[in-house]
Amino acid sequence: MSLAIKLTEERRARLAAERLLELKQAELYAANRKLGLHAQQLSEEIVETRAEVETIRDENQRVKSDLTAAHHKIAVTERRLWHSIETINDGFAFFNADNQMIMANRSYLNVFEDLEIIRPGVNYVTILQAMTDEGIVNTGPLSASDWRQMMSERLKNPQPEPAVIQLWNERYIKLIDQRGPKGDLVSLGLDITATVVFEQQLQEAREIAESANRAKSAFLANMSHEIRTPMNGVVGMAQVLSETTLDEEQQLYVDTIRNSGEALLVIINDVLDYSKIEAQKLDLKPQQFDLERALKEVLMLLEPSACDKGLNLSLDYDVFLPKELIGDPGRLRQVMTNLIGNAIKFTTKGHVIIRATGVPDWATGHVSLHISVEDSGIGIPETMVAHIFGEFNQVENERNRQFDGTGLGLAISQRLIEMMGGKIWVTSKEGVGSCFGFVVELAAAVP
Ligand code: ADP
Repeated sequence: MSLAIKLTEERRARLAAERLLELKQAELYAANRKLGLHAQQLSEEIVETRAEVETIRDENQRVKSDLTAAHHKIAVTERRLWHSIETINDGFAFFNADNQMIMANRSYLNVFEDLEIIRPGVNYVTILQAMTDEGIVNTGPLSASDWRQMMSERLKNPQPEPAVIQLWNERYIKLIDQRGPKGDLVSLGLDITATVVFEQQLQEAREIAESANRAKSAFLANMSHEIRTPMNGVVGMAQVLSETTLDEEQQLYVDTIRNSGEALLVIINDVLDYSKIEAQKLDLKPQQFDLERALKEVLMLLEPSACDKGLNLSLDYDVFLPKELIGDPGRLRQVMTNLIGNAIKFTTKGHVIIRATGVPDWATGHVSLHISVEDSGIGIPETMVAHIFGEFNQVENERNRQFDGTGLGLAISQRLIEMMGGKIWVTSKEGVGSCFGFVVELAAAVP
């Protein structure tokens, strides 16, 4: 190989090496740039992270101081709450879900007069045991173990009913135990001695008042009974006198005596009945009777007054009603007379319809008897409907004032129906009419 060729090859090789160097330098530069960028990014991130750490540290500090403040507040609140609980006169205690005492106030512990075992940690059942063993509680008719059993059973209930216990010193405590959502028990012992004593006094006073009321009613019943006898004489003699030969003026006087006497007798009879019911001296006399006949007798008696007023008096009698029933016919007649009599009295035109219905229950042999009296009379204002069943209560308005009466009829009817175990009611519309009714359960007589 010539020298010139050798030189040319060497130059070529040098040029190729130089190009490779240039290439590698460019690559190195690019890698350096990338590294520089990455380093810059990293340092930016570090700065950011530092700032975040700083913020978190601040927040942490704030939370810590808030927590300290909150702890302090809780401690103050707890102290105040406990102080308040300590100052109340009623017993207060907390128990955990296993019925172990967590804490109790002085009033609660005082009941046990510093008994060693009654302190936080003691079980509710042990407290019950101590109460009977130490004679702290008066278990009444129950034996000590029955009482404890009853009280422990009560505690098993998720929401125990309040219980009233009597302590050895005659004080009455109402125990109100309430379970929390996690089974904790708050036990409150309210001293209700004053209320119990007051209730006892009230009961005694009521009994005295009731017996005085019965004595008054008995007196009234005796008096009206005594007045009735001579009054019957007056009315009877006026009747006899009116049948003798009298001039027109004398006839008027005698009729006035008789009418007034009869009106007075109605009042005396009402007062007598009412006072007998009040004195509990009125007994029902159940016997077999024919209801349809009893109703027709009442209607026969009242028909003339309905006729005088031109009223249409009708009876709608259910054919399915048994012929004979067992009940007090006299008293049922009295109620029906009152309701139908009122319907005629307070109706000036139109109708009075009496309906008697009732389907016998063959299984029991009883009939639920419904009797209603519907009229097209003056009606009763809505506000007065409840009032009219009270004794001596009448609707006090101009339309009503023209009708006489004692205001005792409905009170007596209501009491009689209640004595029979039934119910009496009324529906009415002023100016349109009323419908009085009652339901009583009577036995059907065996044919
Ligand atoms: P009395 O009829 O003797 O006044 P009641 O106790 O029988 O006593 O009735 C009380 C009151 O109820 C009556 O005064 C009257 O105001 C009202 N009342 C009773 N029945 C009717 C009726 N059918 N229509 C309108 N008002 C009535």
